[in-house]
Parts: sequence; C-alpha cells; structure tokens
Amino acid sequence: MALHNQEIQTAYLNKIALRDKLRHAIKHDLLNVYYQPIVDQSTGCIVKFEALVRWFDDEQGMISPGAFIPIAEEFGLIQQIGHFVLKKACRDLSKMHSLGYADVSISVNRSVNEFKVSNNQFDLVTEAIESANIPFGSLTVEVTESMATNHYTWQLLRDLREKGVKIALDDFCTGYSSLSHLIENQVDYLKIDKSFVDSLLQDKSKQIMISCLVDMAKQLGIKVIAEGVESENQLTVLKELGCDHIQGYYYSPARPIGACIHLLEEFNGEKPIELNVLSVTSSRV
Ligand code: C2E
Ligand code: CA
Ligand code: CA
Repeated sequence: MALHNQEIQTAYLNKIALRDKLRHAIKHDLLNVYYQPIVDQSTGCIVKFEALVRWFDDEQGMISPGAFIPIAEEFGLIQQIGHFVLKKACRDLSKMHSLGYADVSISVNRSVNEFKVSNNQFDLVTEAIESANIPFGSLTVEVTESMATNHYTWQLLRDLREKGVKIALDDFCTGYSSLSHLIENQVDYLKIDKSFVDSLLQDKSKQIMISCLVDMAKQLGIKVIAEGVESENQLTVLKELGCDHIQGYYYSPARPIGACIHLLEEFNGEKPIELNVLSVTSSRV
C-alpha cells in the first residue's frame, strides 16, 4: 500500500515537473511544428500536410506530443499550443503557396478544451487564415469523435465550415464510432486510425469494414484518409479498398518546413519521382 502511494506521488511530481518545463518551453518559444505529407492516390501528389507539434528538450531530447498534450490539456496550456501551431501552419502554408504549390492544404489538430465557449476558436481560426492570406478551404481542422458529442463544438465547426474551412474526423474506428455523427454533421474527411491499419492485413473483417466505410463516405461526399501506413502491402490493400489519401511512414514522417518543400519538389514537381522511392530514402524522425 505504502509502495503504491509512493508510486502515485512520484507520478504526480513527474507530471508537475513536465508541466513547469512545458510552461517554460511555451514562454521561450521552444516548440516547433513539423508536417507529415498526405498523398492523393489518384494523382500521386501531396495534397495536404498534417501539422504536428514538436518539442526538443535540451535534457530529455524529443518529448512526444502523446506525453505532453494531455498535460497541456489538463493544466490549461493547450490553447496557447494550439494557437501557436495554427498560426505557424498558416504562415508555412502561405510559403508553400507562394512557391507555386497552391493546391496544397494543411491540417491542424484541435483538442476538446480548445472549443470552450470562452475561447473564441471561430475568431482565432479566421484571423490566422486572413493574416496569412491563404484561402479558407486550404485549412482543415481535425477533431476526434469524442469531441463530437458536444453540441457547441459542432455549431462552431459548422460556422467554420460555412466560411470554407474543412473538417476531418480523426482517429475514426477507435472506441465507439457513431455513423449518425457522420451523417448528421457534415465533415469533409474521415481519418482511419493507425491501430486499424496495423491489423488490416491479418484481419479480413477490418477490410470489409473499410470497404463499407469508403462506400458510405463516397455517397456523403467525404474523402477517406488512412493514417499510420508503413508498408507497401498495407498501401496496396487500402488502395484496392478505395481509400482516397494515404498518410504514414511509408511516404514520410513529419518533417520541418524546409524538408517538406523538398518533398513537394519531388512529389508535385513537373516530373514526379516514383511513389515508393521516398520510403527507401526517408529516415524516421
Ligand atoms: P494524431 O493526430 O493521430 O497524429 C498522428 C500521429 O501518428 C503522429 O504522432 C504521427 O507522427 C504518427 N504517425 C504518422 N504516421 C505514422 C506511421 O506510419 N507509423 C507510426 N508509428 N506513427 C505514425 P505524434 O506527432 O507523436 O502525435 C501524437 C498525437 O498528439 C497526435 O495524434 C495528436 O492527437 C496529438 N497532437 C500532435 N500535435 C498536436 C497539436 O498541435 N495540437 C493538438 N491538440 N494535438 C496534437
Ligand atoms: Ca490528427
Ligand atoms: Ca489520428
């Protein structure tokens, strides 16, 4: 019992230490944003990049968002991180557009706490888009299904969508997936979660589910993105099942903006290189 209490106490102290370190990192501009390409299977071009926050700490090295995003949510730091990522992503997209890649768009993740009534996401998002001078349609907001239970959140997403912003349902096929959410609240993209893609080759029932989902999405005018795709076999099956877009280490991990511009030159340039060449040369960050 005493040991158990000590473990809880140590975990709590570690959490508080990470929170303080994160506060310091936010204040001193130590966070960065990397981008992971999403490839359109009908053209072989990059259509979109997902903006993913990165934190390289001098002592601990890279700290995964999986470790610090929940802490940022718990201690009210997520708004600052979200706003930083949003502004940087819009500015970097503007850079890509000015280099001639005007069809490329960008996705940002939103956490549930960012959709509080007091925190006007509508104004923050529209201001970031307008000050970067990019089209509204070139920004996608990714939300998870668990957020979709909140009426206020959906109203806000509908307002953004009316301005032209796209909405993606992230981590689809995890936990409970309500098809009625999909039908009632129009979204533009469905992202099939990595855990689903991982077991796809061994599990025929998952392939049947994806095939049904793709058919339904087509009828609703929704594009399907499979994420966490690492192998050529997974890619082949997902393509056969009709997934529109693919994201994953097979193509590339998330990279800094400069490296993404090189990817655009290779993928979307006048003479695009073979699709799977990058998987051989890409290093996992
Ligand atoms: P997510 O939105 O599901 O993002 C995809 C995660 O899968 C990313 O991890 C990405 O690096 C990883 N990934 C992509 N392809 C592959 C693959 O082929 N294999 C493997 N093993 N992993 C792959 P990351 O960057 O560690 O982010 C983890 C989660 O943290 C994200 O999951 C998202 O929920 C959250 N997150 C990241 N950036 C932000 C942000 O700016 N704001 C908010 N609210 N959440 C963020
Ligand atoms: Ca996401
Ligand atoms: Ca996801």
